[in-house]
Amino acid sequence: MRPPQEARSLLLPATQGCTYNKCNFCYISRGYTFMSMRPDEFEAQAAAYKPYFPSTTRVYLTGSNPFALSTRKLKEYIAILRKYYPDFGRVSLQARIDDIARKTDEELRELKELGLSHLYIGTENGDEEVLKLMNKGHTASDTVTQLRRLDETGYGYTCFYVLGLGGKGNGIRSALNTAAMFNSVNPERITTTGMTLFEASPVADMARKGEFVEASEREKIEELRAFLNALKIDVFYDGVHYLNPLNYRFRNSDASAKTRVLTDIDDILASHTDAELELMVNRRQMTSL
Ligand code: SF4
Repeated sequence: MRPPQEARSLLLPATQGCTYNKCNFCYISRGYTFMSMRPDEFEAQAAAYKPYFPSTTRVYLTGSNPFALSTRKLKEYIAILRKYYPDFGRVSLQARIDDIARKTDEELRELKELGLSHLYIGTENGDEEVLKLMNKGHTASDTVTQLRRLDETGYGYTCFYVLGLGGKGNGIRSALNTAAMFNSVNPERITTTGMTLFEASPVADMARKGEFVEASEREKIEELRAFLNALKIDVFYDGVHYLNPLNYRFRNSDASAKTRVLTDIDDILASHTDAELELMVNRRQMTSL
């Protein structure tokens, strides 16, 4: 697994599994013990790909949250990468909010200076109730605290926001609280995806028991509209993801691009019935992340 933006990067396995593994909407790491590559295993991979990637390549370390690894281990990986790709563009990886919290400012600065300069973070939503419902393991207030630390230590970071995560009736509240959360920090990019009930995730059981009611595609699109409308910071919005109900990408400070997108969303909402929107997105055909 890798974010769409890392399609051209050198992808190197660093970890398997997730240290948390309890988010109700997620199934990807269930059943996998969290493990990390030994430095010699990591080095063997880095060496094997050397003929195929330039020394300036960007590197993406795969795994659900490799930023949970100790600073010592991450530094070992980076040293190996410097040996084979001396001018690498940057190293990036996935991080949970509590992984960031466990690192001191000094550790964050040190890793950033060594080239680990971009994090992909499953912030998911800015609404406290929704985060609790999905058992995310951190609050929106924790998110703001930790992202501010990244701002202060000079990291670039991409945040993920899942439209429809709160279920039916909670889209607009999620949108406004998520926009407010991001408006108080400085992400480089925000990527949205759309809530999909995958059979292997706990939320599918919650839905069967009536504890979660899925939002319609119309509500997800209305949530996206309300979110974009309330988002004020200068950030790149990159909604190109197959789980999204609609795909757009633009710089949020580009007023004319944003107006075009909001008008387009209005047109789509006005010109399609609920049944047509469900059919267009066709979420039941999405069987895996
Ligand atoms: S969403 Fe991320 S943090 Fe949550 S269980 Fe899945 S991999 Fe772990």
